[in-house]
Amino acid sequence: MEYDIIFVLGELFFDHPLSGAAILKRLLEKHGYNVGVIEKPTKEEEVKKLGKPKLFFAVSSGAIDSMVRNYTPLKKKRDEDKYSDYEELVPDKAVVVYCNWIKKNFKESLIVIGGTEASLRRFVHYDYWENRLRKSILFDSRADLLVYGNGEKQILEIAERTTEKLPLDSIEGTCIVSRIIPENFKELPSEEEVTDSKEKFCEMQLDLNNHTNLAQKSGQRYILQYKSPLYTSKDLDEYYELPFSRNIPLKSLRGFEFSIVTHRGCIGNCNFCAINLIQGNKIISRSEESILKEIKNLAKLPYFKGNVDDLGGPSANMYGMDCNRCDICHNDCLKCEKLDKSHSRLLQLLKKSRTIPGIRKIYLRSGIRYDFAPKIYIKEIAEHHLYDTLRIAPEHTDENVLQLMNKDKGNFKEFLQFFNSLKCGKKLSYYFITAHPGSSMKEAKELAEAVKGLDNLSLQVFTPTPMTTSTCMYYTGMDPKSKEKIYVPYTYSEKKEQKRVVLNDVMFTK
Ligand code: SF4
Ligand code: SF4
Repeated sequence: MEYDIIFVLGELFFDHPLSGAAILKRLLEKHGYNVGVIEKPTKEEEVKKLGKPKLFFAVSSGAIDSMVRNYTPLKKKRDEDKYSDYEELVPDKAVVVYCNWIKKNFKESLIVIGGTEASLRRFVHYDYWENRLRKSILFDSRADLLVYGNGEKQILEIAERTTEKLPLDSIEGTCIVSRIIPENFKELPSEEEVTDSKEKFCEMQLDLNNHTNLAQKSGQRYILQYKSPLYTSKDLDEYYELPFSRNIPLKSLRGFEFSIVTHRGCIGNCNFCAINLIQGNKIISRSEESILKEIKNLAKLPYFKGNVDDLGGPSANMYGMDCNRCDICHNDCLKCEKLDKSHSRLLQLLKKSRTIPGIRKIYLRSGIRYDFAPKIYIKEIAEHHLYDTLRIAPEHTDENVLQLMNKDKGNFKEFLQFFNSLKCGKKLSYYFITAHPGSSMKEAKELAEAVKGLDNLSLQVFTPTPMTTSTCMYYTGMDPKSKEKIYVPYTYSEKKEQKRVVLNDVMFTK
C-alpha cells in the first residue's frame, strides 16, 4: 500500500484521544488521506518498511523530548538506573536521527517535524545534556518544515498544499528556513548574538511566544516562525470526537483508557514549564455538550465498568477559563480580573456528568492548581471525584524560589488545613522541585523542614529542558527580566544533596 503520509514516532502509537499522533492520524483520515505509522524505529532499515510516502514523512519524538526520556535530571542513562523500570528504545536526539535515516533512504521526500522535541528546539536553545547552545533543530535535522504546538490545522494545510504542489511558506504554526525576513516579523537576537552574550540570550527568552511572527538570523539564513493559528472550542470538539478505538496497549497508560480531555493550554505560566510554547498560555475548553457526549459514548462500550478514569487537562481546574479576547490580548490571564475563575462551568460539567446513566464514578486524576481553587470546588471533588488522592504541585515553599518559578506563594498551609477539615478519607499528593535556580542548600533545608511529615511526596531535581525561562536562568545565571545574578546549583553533588536533605527528612519523620 502506498501511503500519503508516514508518521515516524519515538513512542508507541495508540489510537486514543490522549495521543497527539492518533488525533492527527484520525483527522487526516477524515479528510481522505491515508496514514502509515512507524513506531520507535531502532535502526535505519525500519524507516524504509512502508516505502516512500506520496506526500511527506511526519517525524516526532512523541510527547517527550528524547533526552528527557533517556536521562535522569542528573544525566544518568535511565536504562542504567536501577530505580526506574525504563525500557524505551528511542535514540538520543531522536528527531535528528530519524530525519537522517529518512534523508539517506528517501532523498527527495519531504520531511515535516513536530511534537515536543521539535517545538522546543525551534530556535537557538540551551541543551542541558551537552551543556551548550544548539542551533534550531530545523538546521540539525535538515527537515523542510517544523510544526510547533497543537498541530492539527498545520498538518491539514501541509497535506493540502503538498497535494496541490503549492509552496510551503506562510503556514501559521510552522517554522521554515529562509534567506529573507518578510514584513511584520519581529527579529530575535541572532544566533551569533545569543552565543556571545548571555544578556542577549535573556532578551531572546523574553520574546519567545506562539502568538507573534518571529525571525532569528543564523549565518546568512533565518528561522521564521509563523504565529500560531487560533484554535477554538469548536476545533477541539471536532478533534476529540474523532472515531478512536481507545485501545491502549501501553503498560504505563493502563488505567487511563477512559480518560477524557476537557481543555488545552494553561494560564499558569510557570517558568520551568514550556506548555506556553506548545499548547499556549490561554485556555481553550471543549463544549460541555461534546464532553458529555463522549462520556455517554463511553457508557455504551461493552467493556466499560462505569468509571471515567479522569476528566482533566494540563491543570484540571482551568476548564472553562476561556476568554473571548485571547486572540488579541497577550496579558497574564491568571492575574486578570476579567477572567471568570469561579469554576462555575467546571462545577456544572461535573454535576451533569455524574447523572449520566451507566456512570458510577467520574474520577479526577489530573493535578489541579490549588492556589486559586475555591472551597466549593474542593469540597465537590473531595466528595465525588477523588480515587484516593488529589494531586497538587506546590513546587517549593521558599518565597524567593517560588518567585523565580513564577508561582504564587499560594496558601499552602491554609489549603492543607481546609482539605484535612473535610475529613473525606482521601489524601493529598504533592510534587516539589529542588535545585531550581535560586535554591541553595539553605532553601533546600527550609523545604525539608516545611514538608516534614507529609506523605505521598514526589521530589524532582530541576531539569533544564529546552526553551523554558528557568532553563534560561540556569544557562545564564541571571533573572532574564532584571538581569540580576541568581544563585544556581550546578554540581551533581549539590543537586543530589539538595534532594537527599529533603527526602531524608521526609523518610525520617515517617
Ligand atoms: S500549572 Fe502546570 S501545566 Fe501550567 S504552567 Fe504550571 S507546570 Fe505547566
Ligand atoms: S482579557 Fe484577561 S482573561 Fe482575557 S485574554 Fe486578556 S488577560 Fe486573559
